[in-house]
Amino acid sequence: MRACPTSCTAVKQQFSTCSRKPKDVNQMTRGNPCQLPGMLPNYDPNDSEAGMKILEDLTENVEQIQQRVLEEIITRNARTDYLKGFLDGEFDKQVFKKTVPVVNYEDIKPYIERIANGDSSNIISAEPIIELLTSSGTSGGQPKMMPSTAEDLHRKTFFYNLLVPVMNKYVDGLDEGKAMYLLFVKPETKTPSGLMARPVLTSYYKSNNFKNRPFNRFNVYTSPDETILCSDSKQSMYCQLLCGLVQRQEVLRVGAVFASAFLRAIKFLEHNWKELCSNIRTGHVSDWITDPGCRKVVSLVLNKPKPELADLIEHECNSKSWEGIIKKLWPRTKYIEVIVTGSMAQYVSTLEYYSGGLPLVSTMYASSECYFGINFKPLSKPWDVSYTLIPNMAYFEFLPVKKKNEDGAQYVQCNGVCKENCMEKETEKEDVETVELVDVKLGQYYELVVTTFTGLYRYRVGDILMVTGFHNKAPQFRFVHRRNVVLSVDTDKTSEEDLLKAVTKAKVIVESLGILLIEYTSYADTSSIPGHYVLFWEITSKGNNHLPVLDHKIMEQCCSTVEESLDSVYRRCRRKDNSIGPLEIRVVQHGTFDALMDFCVSQGSSVNQYKTPRCIKSGEAINILDSRVVARFFSQKAPFWEPV
Ligand code: AMP
Repeated sequence: MRACPTSCTAVKQQFSTCSRKPKDVNQMTRGNPCQLPGMLPNYDPNDSEAGMKILEDLTENVEQIQQRVLEEIITRNARTDYLKGFLDGEFDKQVFKKTVPVVNYEDIKPYIERIANGDSSNIISAEPIIELLTSSGTSGGQPKMMPSTAEDLHRKTFFYNLLVPVMNKYVDGLDEGKAMYLLFVKPETKTPSGLMARPVLTSYYKSNNFKNRPFNRFNVYTSPDETILCSDSKQSMYCQLLCGLVQRQEVLRVGAVFASAFLRAIKFLEHNWKELCSNIRTGHVSDWITDPGCRKVVSLVLNKPKPELADLIEHECNSKSWEGIIKKLWPRTKYIEVIVTGSMAQYVSTLEYYSGGLPLVSTMYASSECYFGINFKPLSKPWDVSYTLIPNMAYFEFLPVKKKNEDGAQYVQCNGVCKENCMEKETEKEDVETVELVDVKLGQYYELVVTTFTGLYRYRVGDILMVTGFHNKAPQFRFVHRRNVVLSVDTDKTSEEDLLKAVTKAKVIVESLGILLIEYTSYADTSSIPGHYVLFWEITSKGNNHLPVLDHKIMEQCCSTVEESLDSVYRRCRRKDNSIGPLEIRVVQHGTFDALMDFCVSQGSSVNQYKTPRCIKSGEAINILDSRVVARFFSQKAPFWEPV
């Protein structure tokens, strides 16, 4: 979720009617009226000490700030159609918690759809909703859409600004060079009412908060904005890498938002380094870079022929092994900034291979609904990363999640190994009481529920978090997993149900030929970049237990059908972003799934409760399946996708 921190100009403007400038968060929590619109204290983001002080104050005064955040949200929005139905126009926390239900997307979808179709946004938010943020969660195959307001951009800016002092605390001299952050915008569309619908980062990068950000010496990028904002992802990637290579001696850190995007850039470099070097050698950018903004700024960065630099880069890229290539190409790099928690953890070993041992830094935890938390120990190992929720971002509540019996069905369900993310029983019912941010308990698992400044009230985000400690009074959370997600390669999030629906459609094809699909499971194969979905299928001829003769064309059609049936984010990643490779079906020999069951039982699963895991993460289990593969088929065409 990385973007450039900007100054608080906008925030200052927000308080421009106020003559008293706030000095610390205590003022805010003590009821300084100047602080109320948005609860954002003001400071100079170039001033790291001031930034740290803000963070200390925020984390010291969690309870008061949360109380004020809720009061502010309710007071502003009590007369919206949505809240009016539950509250009598007044702020009362107890009434709020008693009467406003904890909801899922399906509950608020009718309101979002009304707004998308032209109803006034004050049905959920007093502050006008200026756009809808398309999240990677889906509902009925379409991306979920989260409301966003102009004011919320300032909240995000405030949040980004806070990342700077945290990094400065651990790494010196970040103002003595540049950051090669590879940032991209995604396609956007308009709703019938003319509201923009786009991913949260695209919204932020295209905002004035990003484009008109004042200079911050700790955050100078190698990528000119024109290259980040270029809608052609190939040209954007090429130009950003070119600029990063030309300025290689100045680069102090490299990164992208998610690990998958950064690795995609490394792959792109592997395929294009010769051409990039030729551009550096001649001082001319390739003709296929036709985006006028990109051409102009990249030509300025290239400036003149640099044959020696081209030789040097060519020499490094030409070496047989690309182990440690990042350190070789960008020798002053101190760390790689990419999110490697959650589903991105699968990329840690590949990143370590390319990085030559550089720290992997996950700075923040955020979503389309709201920006949540900051990693206060950015140099900690990926598996030790915790995020401290920032209490003025939203009102946070937590649904307790019970741990499952170690040999319960859920445990077996995922992968037959003792993985942390298989051990909880999620809270199904809304009647379970939520816990407040200050009341969460160390070691406990919770599902995050947010009430935002943008019109979401007691909304279940779907993320399961575990409390790992406290910074002052603010709890810190490890991201455990996302509810219901079994497969993820990039920003796609495929649930067991999505997978079942897609497989069901594909199996109709083979059934019409007298072939039965007896069992299936899946895994995300990220051993090569881009990663791809693999389905293991055990099939048989109707009427006997023999493996049927498999027609390549038919099986490839099955692969395509599964892809066509997966959600819009999957199809965008696959077709537009090329961040997911063609889906593969591996047909396994008869009896393979019995062997899988034996394995799971040997690992502690109860035979009685055994259900075939629909997604496999254990290397051993994958080996059991892989050693019995008799044929492999790949999808031959990218699925249909258009912005929705
Ligand atoms: P989206 O709704 O598409 O913006 O995706 C937001 C979701 O991405 C969050 O709810 C998390 O499930 C996941 N996510 C975001 N940041 C992180 C992080 N730092 N670590 C793990 N998962 C994350």
